[in-house]
Amino acid sequence: MTASQPAAQPSAKPQLAFRPLPVPQVDVRGFWGDRVEAVATRTAEILYDRCVEARMLEQIDPDVPSPGVVIPFHVSDGFTARTVTTQMFWDSDWGKTIETAAYSLYRRRNPDLEKKIDAVIDMYGKLQQEDGYLSSWYQRIQPGLRWTNLRDCHELYCAGHLIEGAVAYFQATGKRKLLDILSRYVDHIGSVFGPEPGKKKGYCGHEEIELALVKLARVTGEKKYMDLAKYFIDQRGQQPHYFDEEARARGADPKAYHFKTYEYNQSHKPVREQDKVVGHAVRAMYLYSGMADIATEYGDDTLRVALDRLWDDLMTKSLYVTGGLGPSAHNEGFTSDYDLPNDTAYAETCASVGLVFWASRMLGMGPNARYADMMERALYNGSISGLSLDGSLFFYENPLESRGGHHRWKWHRCPCCPPNIGRMVASIGSYFYGLADDALAVHLYGDSTARFEIAGRQVTLVQTSSYPWDGAIAIEIGPEAPVEFTLHLRIPAWCRKAALRVNGKLVDLEAATVDGYAAIRRKWRQGDKVELDLEMSMARLFANPQVRQDIGRVALARGPLIYCVEETDNGGGLYRIALPREARLEAHKEPNLLGGIVTLSAIGSRAETENWGADLYRPEPPVTQETKLKAVPYFAWDNRDPGEMLVWLREG
Ligand SMILES: [Zn+2]
Repeated sequence: MTASQPAAQPSAKPQLAFRPLPVPQVDVRGFWGDRVEAVATRTAEILYDRCVEARMLEQIDPDVPSPGVVIPFHVSDGFTARTVTTQMFWDSDWGKTIETAAYSLYRRRNPDLEKKIDAVIDMYGKLQQEDGYLSSWYQRIQPGLRWTNLRDCHELYCAGHLIEGAVAYFQATGKRKLLDILSRYVDHIGSVFGPEPGKKKGYCGHEEIELALVKLARVTGEKKYMDLAKYFIDQRGQQPHYFDEEARARGADPKAYHFKTYEYNQSHKPVREQDKVVGHAVRAMYLYSGMADIATEYGDDTLRVALDRLWDDLMTKSLYVTGGLGPSAHNEGFTSDYDLPNDTAYAETCASVGLVFWASRMLGMGPNARYADMMERALYNGSISGLSLDGSLFFYENPLESRGGHHRWKWHRCPCCPPNIGRMVASIGSYFYGLADDALAVHLYGDSTARFEIAGRQVTLVQTSSYPWDGAIAIEIGPEAPVEFTLHLRIPAWCRKAALRVNGKLVDLEAATVDGYAAIRRKWRQGDKVELDLEMSMARLFANPQVRQDIGRVALARGPLIYCVEETDNGGGLYRIALPREARLEAHKEPNLLGGIVTLSAIGSRAETENWGADLYRPEPPVTQETKLKAVPYFAWDNRDPGEMLVWLREG
């Protein structure tokens, strides 16, 4: 980070719970308006169509023959030859597709899509068993095996995504059917798992249901769902280890586990003892998200302490500059400290989306730029890079360097990323604010209108801004009657110079800022104006010298955006370009490029091949020529002519 101000530290004292505003209470325009529009007009329908093409409808419809195994099993636990296929997760793909559709319906009515989703929900209603159980895989493809392999088979994970879909669809349409179906299913799950004698002491190998149960508890007001989420979190990693016992019960050797270590699914020790971010990156992010929710809801400082340790570990050793994470394709996750290869970076879209989830939930414990800055970093870079600008194509991996062969997919064998980025973008409004009893925190800036109730008064808050292209933000606050509350405004660490005015009067930022947020407490009246000017600093970023792949290299940033160079602007052989330390960086508004962006340019040099000849090695270095390089925001790459891409430029 290039901040002149010290990085914010974890807040010492617990604060009030700050909860996100529901999606319909925030209308986004500008940068995020364009992204949400692409999802609402294209992505949401594409997701539905691709699920149907993949034969997912046949799996959940009890009125048609089961499609059987469509995607072959690919992981075995050494006993049963057939253990895992991504087809087991199809309920989760439906859950996320329903969620994306639901949030898209806030933006834009779409009766045709709504009808299709209603039909999917009717199928789940018909499929649900008498006792409440609901899994298209275990009911239609592998009957008789339910709850026999929580470690590998994503049974509770699928339930979690269906829960999230149900909550979103209820909020978007007012229709309760899926919510009622999932509540019945969760009641069944609660009768199978829990601390009481006779119940299974298990939890899912792929975390997800924990954070979903928190959402279900919040929307239904049922504390028992929150308690079940807490149980799954508390139980994780306890001895005797559930996954060992479960393997023995199905006649398998626990040691024959494909991934060898329970670090893979973060069950290697109880969560409060964990101090290192390990294993599968998406699983880790979902677990920490659930832990943060429970820490917020139960005021549980023991979880909070563990979360801050894990946060530190990720931020200081394993995070790409783009907010991407999990370098290895082998375990779809973490390897060793400072291992951040660029061209082979796995950096799954879902993992960066998961980091957004985790960071946003840390903000439930109070505004702190330590988390919000990283939420913003992952949002603007490593997550939305996963979706093409028109909303139709997807990245699964998000490398920081490409030799020209990495391009967006129409779909994926394991299609977790497309609906994950779809639902995150469509619900972006809920990441903007945190609302407490007498405080509102503004985490994100951008042209938008929010409506909320505070201290019994309805308040409208309008942000006028062309953020992130420009750092001038005008906020107009319109309470129905004067009302006192604290407004917390994030001052990002990347910003070198900020100015804040309330009704034209300059605020002493240093005195007003705690944990990276300026706090203004006053009786707000209709028409009160807050102006925040954040200098859109351009910056060179350097990696810790222990990151072998980035030594001698520099990344370019402007405000929250990380930049890259592409072949289409700079010609091929991007590795031959170097940027001198003293080269002046310039920013240019380009309204007709990539939907309207700010590009960066500088004079660099390029090692020429023309006069080198046929030698592979020579005692003289190559001749270099001056070249003008042009960088575009990383999220927008691979939306034009296919070619090479590079984030970390050679310095020199
Ligand atoms: Zn994914």
